[in-house]
Amino acid sequence: MAAKYADVIIDISHEKVDRPFQYKIPQELAEAVYAGVRVHVPFGRGNRDQIGYVVDLSDRTDYPEEKLKSITSVDDRGITAQSIQIRTAYWMKRQYGSTMIAALKTVLPVKQKLKQIEKKKITGCLPADKLREMADQCEGRHQSAKARVLRALAEEELLPYELIRQKLNVSSATLQALQKQGCLQIETESLYRNPVKLMAKEEQRVSLSDVQKGIIEDVLRDYRAGCAGTYLIHGVTGSGKTEVYLGIIEQMIAMGKQAIVLIPEIALTYQTLLRFYKRFGDRVSVMNSTLSMGEKYDQIRRAADGEIDVIIGPRSALFTPFPNLGVIVVDEEHESSYKSESMPKYHARETALHIASMQHAAVVLGSATPSLEAYYRAKRGEYKLYEMKGRHGSSTLPDVYTVDLREELRQGNRSVFSRKLRELMEQRLAAGEQTMLFLNRRGYAGFISCRACGHVMKCPHCDVSLSEHRGGMLICHYCGYEEKRQTKCPSCGSKYLMGFKAGTEQIEEALHREFPGARVLRMDADTTRKKESYEKILSAFADERADILVGTQMIVKGHDFPNVTLVGILAADLSLNRNDYRAGERTFQLLTQAAGRAGRGDKKGEVVIQAYQPEHYSIVHAAKQDYAAFYEEEIAYRDLMSYPPVSHMLAVLIISSGQEEGMKLCEEMTNVVNAEREKDREAESYRGIQVIGPAEAAIGKINDLYRHVFYVKHADYQILVEMKDILELFCKEKELKNQTVQYDFDPINTY
Ligand code: ADP
Ligand code: ZN
Ligand code: ZN
Repeated sequence: MAAKYADVIIDISHEKVDRPFQYKIPQELAEAVYAGVRVHVPFGRGNRDQIGYVVDLSDRTDYPEEKLKSITSVDDRGITAQSIQIRTAYWMKRQYGSTMIAALKTVLPVKQKLKQIEKKKITGCLPADKLREMADQCEGRHQSAKARVLRALAEEELLPYELIRQKLNVSSATLQALQKQGCLQIETESLYRNPVKLMAKEEQRVSLSDVQKGIIEDVLRDYRAGCAGTYLIHGVTGSGKTEVYLGIIEQMIAMGKQAIVLIPEIALTYQTLLRFYKRFGDRVSVMNSTLSMGEKYDQIRRAADGEIDVIIGPRSALFTPFPNLGVIVVDEEHESSYKSESMPKYHARETALHIASMQHAAVVLGSATPSLEAYYRAKRGEYKLYEMKGRHGSSTLPDVYTVDLREELRQGNRSVFSRKLRELMEQRLAAGEQTMLFLNRRGYAGFISCRACGHVMKCPHCDVSLSEHRGGMLICHYCGYEEKRQTKCPSCGSKYLMGFKAGTEQIEEALHREFPGARVLRMDADTTRKKESYEKILSAFADERADILVGTQMIVKGHDFPNVTLVGILAADLSLNRNDYRAGERTFQLLTQAAGRAGRGDKKGEVVIQAYQPEHYSIVHAAKQDYAAFYEEEIAYRDLMSYPPVSHMLAVLIISSGQEEGMKLCEEMTNVVNAEREKDREAESYRGIQVIGPAEAAIGKINDLYRHVFYVKHADYQILVEMKDILELFCKEKELKNQTVQYDFDPINTY
């Protein structure tokens, strides 16, 4: 049945986007009105004719019927970029569950009313030692303000103007004077709007391999034939995927089309950007989280006006409104940062597929360790799969050793470093080569394992590890199962049953103790709280100002370090014991990526994987870099347990100010789903619904708000969407006050 009412937004780019107006849909327009369409409506007291966009449709209204005005007509001047954005938002609202406003705000950049603060930056124009020399001279002349600026610029080539003015307390007159002397340059916003400046150096074109050429030709042939598809390129880092993207985009641009390139922010390195700039010049633009709202808006306007052909950025770059989108590239498509953590909890890969289908654009996915989702669909023929084997150039894959930490303990080695790792580290220190030590710390959220035999305490119903809670209870966060914490290992009787507590800080201490004299850098959430410190640590390591870099998963991405010839993974299976069905996949990805850090230069690399369960398939296959073998075992497990991608799963998270109310609502909502399953015996498909929970969430309370969760599983995603709709309606009728409900389809994090 066609909807009766439409929510219309009058000025879409205005910040009052959160105030749509409801209109009646006249019968004769029922077919023509859909989300995203432009309509004429009477507006305001004088009923002025205005153009607006339909953002939502419904069968019910909260207003008195007679007070509603009607849509006058549908504006049929084709589909605008904005209609596409609105349709995307509408689709996200439906598929992922959120309010239309939240979806619109995700998709549309909001024009800011505030006058834009003028942004300036200051760059030093002389070498650092020259700047220091001048600073000394200035001090001699009691020009201390000048000296402060010069010293700051000697440390840091580029500094925000505000920082210098305020933190260093320097007047603008002083800065002007220094600019006249040629010591520095004051750059205004328009200059650094294009975040990467074009280097004068010409791009060195490589001649593409047959595999590379083949992929490019396939994608474009399909595109020209009007059946743009989805393509998955499976190839290790350095196998030449980016060259393929560049080749496809180049031909798209020649046809007057545009391209969106998604790269996780952490992998958005200077080197990668430079390759795009060298190929496409200033027709490229970059989106990243350091841009202000105003700058983002500006990028989007340039895209809509046809000033640029390529946008590169993380998740949010997906919503760039190009008039003739030809291709969306999703590099490192397995990355969890492609999933939004706030409502709507959309996945950029899935949303890219939807946006591309609306505009008949191609989608190219690339990864060294494809997500199970992408590989599964490729195997089923929904995507075309390409394998790119090996690296270009001289660098070869490293040798990998797996060490059994249980054996180390039996041999009396209580250090966090195994004998093999220690031996290789000593060799590196002697040879002046670098080592990276990787601690997979994410995993240690409370799981309990036996240090003697590797046995992990697991839920008998869900096959995920139990988490330790205060009061000596072990709890399953999927189904709520609990048992009492034991003191002895149920498998071997050892008393070494404990959580793994070592963090990067402890590793750093151990390094100082066991390798005195080694220069150590540490990188984790604590040492990189400030944005630049991340870059600083990496560049210090790249400059070989340290022998060993120890860190969390942050260190496995991006940057190449040609002098790193050894990578140690300290407790590879920590991430296996997350109470999460994706633990195996994540572990395989992390290990493969970490191993890939060794031996990027001319020297051969070695990798040591330390683990308590070295026989686990994700470790065995990661050590051999055998994705296909890993996939076969992992997909069998997902199939057996009805986990995505074989089946689908909806997580419903209830956030509540009261613990009891939260649990009560969670139970009620679980009952609603159970009732749906039982209600209609005719509807075969509903009987396939599985409900898990209700249970307290893994983190039961955040900011004094209690969290409860349940999961709904079904092979058909659309059935889960229907359940979400039913639950949304149920909650709407309850008029929840101190509770919010969040939906997460095919979650990548546990709740
Ligand atoms: P990926 O994106 O898979 O990490 P890249 O496209 O960045 O791989 O390629 C890695 C390196 O190999 C780059 O320096 C690139 O210029 C080079 N390269 C890629 N393809 C070729 C080729 N056909 N011939 C020579 N060098 C190549
Ligand atoms: Zn369980
Ligand atoms: Zn044991």
